[in-house]
Formats: sequence, structure tokens, C-alpha cells
Amino acid sequence: MIGEADLHMHTYYSDGFYSPYDIVKRAKESGLKIISITDHDGIGALEDAIAYGKDIGVEVIPGVEISTDIEDKEVHLLGYFLDIHNDELIKYLQFFRDERFQRARRIVKKLRNLGLDISIDDVIDQAKNSAIGRPHIALALLEKGLISNYHEAFNKYISDNGPAYEKKIHVSPRSALKLISDAGGLSFIAHPGYMKESILLHLIHTGIDGIEVVHPSHNAHQIKFYRGIVNQYCLLESGGTDFHGGKKGDEDNFGKFRVSIQTVAAMKKMLIRNVS
Ligand code: AMP
Ligand code: FE
Ligand code: FE
Ligand code: ZN
Repeated sequence: MIGEADLHMHTYYSDGFYSPYDIVKRAKESGLKIISITDHDGIGALEDAIAYGKDIGVEVIPGVEISTDIEDKEVHLLGYFLDIHNDELIKYLQFFRDERFQRARRIVKKLRNLGLDISIDDVIDQAKNSAIGRPHIALALLEKGLISNYHEAFNKYISDNGPAYEKKIHVSPRSALKLISDAGGLSFIAHPGYMKESILLHLIHTGIDGIEVVHPSHNAHQIKFYRGIVNQYCLLESGGTDFHGGKKGDEDNFGKFRVSIQTVAAMKKMLIRNVS
């Protein structure tokens, strides 16, 4: 297997199945020397993961995957080498989660007014530690037998034009980039294979530091293409499995999508340049 670093992993502090300890332990067993834990909109796993990594000899780069949006399309940005005690970062992530929670309550209220017997607790059961989104509401409706399949939730109730829709807070990539760099980190475009090229270019011009080139959703042609863009715009490269575990069906992927130690060294060199 090429490389000894996997820079995209989730724990149960967002929508992953495993604890920070499990992830670090498994990384060690898979021969990984460096990992980054990049939970969605949360950094709760990092303190424990870093400490445990030190004990057993796995370097854990403090990361996060921030949800932003452009033209109502969700765009995920990865932040690496963050100061996990940065006040603004901590405050923002709490604010984001609070906003998503309040929005979910408004949607649930609308659904109840439509005669559906669903509560916010049903939704929380689905979201666990994640910032709450419409998929959790759809799963809660399904779990309670109020719809017959997942998509019915959107088609009947919570699509953008649905009767129970509520707008979510808008987070621009620009503000996420600022948050990451103010916390001492580097920002990367996560899984660019999911986005239009015009959005990719927009993000590059907004000042992203790098692109996630290696990702399970990318084929060989895409890897070559994104590596070309990295070189063309003098950006950094990252990559990883985007591992979640459990019901996500990606257990076999663990540690299989890697980048080299040199790739991580290039990131660290950029950090030093930013500080000096
Ligand atoms: P939220 O961020 O809470 O607005 O939820 C957005 C997510 O809901 C998207 O990433 C999709 O996974 C899902 N979603 C949005 N619209 C639909 C739809 N019409 N059908 C199925 N899933 C949808
Ligand atoms: Fe996820
Ligand atoms: Fe993502
Ligand atoms: Zn991810």
C-alpha cells in the first residue's frame, strides 16, 4: 500500500461509528504512521485521539470537516493542524450546531402541525453526536413508520419546496477559510469529485490551501486530474479514506486510501511559512 498517512476519518463525535481510541488503535494496526480525524463540524474527538496517538505512536493531526454552502449546494472543507483550543473555532462550531438544532425543532413543529407524530428526541436519536440535518429527520420519520421509504420524507415534506421546509444558516467557504486560518490551520477542498468544476475554481480563487486528491469516490482519471490542478495552482495535496464505519458500508476501506509522509511534510512546511 502506498503511503503511511490517512487524513480523513470520522468518529462518533460526528457521524462515524467508532470512538477516537478505536480509530487510533486501528490505524496503528493498519500500519499508518499519521492520521487526521476530521469530524463534521466538531472537534470533540481530538484531545483524546491526540493523547492516545502519542501513547501508541500514531501522529494525529487535529482536523475538522466544515459544512459550507455555495448556491445552495453543500461544500465540505477540511481544516488541518488546527489549534483545538482556539476560542473562535470552538464558539463557531457550537453556534453552528445550535442553529441546526433550532432549525430541526422548527421542522419538527411543522411536521407535527401536518399531523405526524414525531418529536425532536426521535430526530436526536438518529443524529447522535452529529449536527442535525434533514437526513436525520427523514430517518426518524422512517423509523416511526410515518413514511414507507427515505425519499418519501423529502418528496412529501422536507424538500426545499416541501411544506415542512425551513432554511438553514448560510456558511460561506470564505468564512470557513478564515476560521481555519485564524485557528492556525490549512484548508482543503474535501472530495472535489462531488462538485462542479466552476465551484472548484471559485474555491481556489477564494484562497484554499489544497485539494483532497485521494478519496474513495475518485477514479484514477480524477486523481490525475486533481493532482494536475494542485500543480497548476501551486496548492497542497491531501487524501484519505473518509472512513465512517458501521452502517455506512465502508469497513473494508479503512486505511486503504493513503498519502505519503512527504505529502504531510509539504503541509507542515507551508505551516512554518505561514507563521514566519
Ligand atoms: P440539510 O443540510 O439539513 O439541509 O440537508 C441536506 C441533505 O439532505 C443533503 O446533503 C441530502 O443528503 C439530503 N437531501 C436534500 N434534498 C433531498 C432530496 N430532495 N432527496 C433526498 N435527499 C435530499
Ligand atoms: Fe460524514
Ligand atoms: Fe464530506
Ligand atoms: Zn468526511
